[in-house]
Amino acid sequence: MRWKGRKQSTHVEDRRGTTVRGGGRPLAGGAVGGLLFALFRRGSGKTKMIMIVGVIAACLIFKINPISLFMSVPGGTSQVVQNSYTPSAKEQEMLEYLKTLKGDNEIIWQKILASEGIRYRPAKMVVYRERTTTPGGIADAQMGPFYLPVNETIYIDPSFFNELATRFGAEGDFAQAYVIAHEVGHHIQKLLGLTDKVHSQQGRISKTDYNQLSVRLELQADFLAGVFAHHAQEKFNFLERGDIEEAMRAAEAIGDDRIQKHSQGHVQPDLFTHGTSAKRKRWFMRGFESGRLADGDTFSIRYTDL
Ligand SMILES: [Zn+2]
Repeated sequence: MRWKGRKQSTHVEDRRGTTVRGGGRPLAGGAVGGLLFALFRRGSGKTKMIMIVGVIAACLIFKINPISLFMSVPGGTSQVVQNSYTPSAKEQEMLEYLKTLKGDNEIIWQKILASEGIRYRPAKMVVYRERTTTPGGIADAQMGPFYLPVNETIYIDPSFFNELATRFGAEGDFAQAYVIAHEVGHHIQKLLGLTDKVHSQQGRISKTDYNQLSVRLELQADFLAGVFAHHAQEKFNFLERGDIEEAMRAAEAIGDDRIQKHSQGHVQPDLFTHGTSAKRKRWFMRGFESGRLADGDTFSIRYTDL
């Protein structure tokens, strides 16, 4: 991907020089609950009984609301402190790259939304290391990049890209561009009112139905990443040989079926919240080939046809 020399975004905040001490549980929450659940699933009947009794007892003794084990709870006292971080040349270049890519996304989306009569406002991007504060709690590098709709901000610790390359076998700058464009896609969904529509259903429909809505939202973000790539290619001619393949490898790597297989050894479609690898690739390519928002309505297609 050719990226040097273009205009950089002014909406990127570099927080790599600070870190967070103390504070509440990570925003991903459920870390404790997730761990318990994983152990529970693997345990024998006897282990399961012991765990149930143990958790109930612990909750009673320590006056913990058991639900809180599975929720993200911001809070506790946390402190933002300076650290002695000085970026290496490579790390500094990563920031330049992210600023450029964010700038590209702003230029392209401003134009697309204007042509649809929708007012555009850019998302913010926070680049951090290890931990940082958000209005929803503490962000942790292990969570991977994400978009927070409340303050329309993308959070990213660039070390995720090392993991993408080494653990998931998806390296290259365009694999990274796909990840960022997907997060920007979530911002576009927020501007289109789709995020709020989906989130308002939480708790009102079954968990399975809600997960399906979530898959639709995620596949559409992949589609929007493709739409961005389509228009950015027209405008900047930024693609190099192998770039689309890099994006495809990233889409493949972070599909739910792949991640589930990685972490638990088998696939459980009910728990999908992002979509399978094949579907993620398909929707990115659909956006890349068409470039038209109208072709990305993942909500009205039958779920099994997605
Ligand atoms: Zn997503």
